[in-house]
Amino acid sequence: MLNKKDAAPPSLLNKLVSLTTIRDVELFEFSLLKTLAELLSIHQISMYKLDQFNTTCWLSTYSANLIQDDDKRQFSESQEIYTSEIMIPEEIKSAQLWIETTKKPYIHYQEDRYLVVYPILSLNKVEGMLTFELSHSLTEGEMLIISSLLSITHNFCSLLDESQKDKLTGLLNRQTFEANIKKINALTLSSDINQDHDGSELNRRRLKVETGKFCLAIIDIDDFKSINDQFGHIMGDEVLLLLSYVMKQNFRARDLLFRFGGEEFVVIFRVSDKEEAYKVLERFRNKIQEYRFPQIDSVTISMGATLINELNYLASEIIGRADQALYHAKQNGKNQLHFYESLLENGFILEKKETSALNFF
Ligand code: GH3
Ligand code: MG
Ligand code: MG
Repeated sequence: MLNKKDAAPPSLLNKLVSLTTIRDVELFEFSLLKTLAELLSIHQISMYKLDQFNTTCWLSTYSANLIQDDDKRQFSESQEIYTSEIMIPEEIKSAQLWIETTKKPYIHYQEDRYLVVYPILSLNKVEGMLTFELSHSLTEGEMLIISSLLSITHNFCSLLDESQKDKLTGLLNRQTFEANIKKINALTLSSDINQDHDGSELNRRRLKVETGKFCLAIIDIDDFKSINDQFGHIMGDEVLLLLSYVMKQNFRARDLLFRFGGEEFVVIFRVSDKEEAYKVLERFRNKIQEYRFPQIDSVTISMGATLINELNYLASEIIGRADQALYHAKQNGKNQLHFYESLLENGFILEKKETSALNFF
């Protein structure tokens, strides 16, 4: 016979257990939207993640129902999460101002509709906002569930964050690279809803995002050894730190920035084409060239870049292509950017052909 001790935990605890098995901040947040919607029987919950310059934001919406909003936002399947980059809506700006001033959730009632907004905090800064659109106001119990889950989210994501970051620069560490490349492949694949390669906690078929190309670039500081030799290891570390600071300023909040090894960095960012990627990277190369590093003055970087737009490319293949372009930049006089695709097109490098056992004969 079952005694009280053996009784199944309530659904909130069950949901918490499955939530905290996720080891990826973004998937965790998407799962949180779904969990909250199910717990509170709310049909639609949105999350706005703010850009560091606070002009655009990433909107992720969980919807339990089929919704046709407008041309841009179409929910074709039930229970899916849709993500897109948008300008911050005025209503969300007002909510942010209210939350930052009062430290309380924002509740707005208009035309039979309640908009309830909760902050997503990171180091006491409003990093994003969670919005609930309701036909009734939330009960005290429901508000308690939301604020408790958000506190757990904050603590859990901070822990995840720490294990994924490089200690010196705070950028992502190399250990997280493979997992992020897999995620990008999944995003590129998401336009084809029949493909679902990994059985992750959140069914990726339900994660519909704007597809597009990604660019990966390896960034390597020129003559870094001589900076260490001339100015000492501590000044060398200072250069790494300042370079990562300029990097965070140059790229957007959703871009993936890694410290890959000693004085080598990797960036993965979404672009519409190679020309746009070229502009972004050249702007960064110029910023570094113009930046006045204390004592050392000028530091330059070389970059090798490649586009990720094919499906299922291995992380090692992508890095290999960018590395070939970087090698070319170093051989060609340093302080420059080269794209693998352009070098290939112009015959500066040869494509590595896959060799299979059958080709021996
Ligand atoms: P190149 O222009 O060809 O890239 O030359 P380089 O001198 O930058 O490259 P090399 O690979 O010869 O030297 C890299 C140096 O980076 C050697 C290593 O001592 C130093 N290094 C690696 N990790 C760190 C670190 O965490 N801090 C400091 N200060 N130096 C580091
Ligand atoms: Mg170097
Ligand atoms: Mg190097």
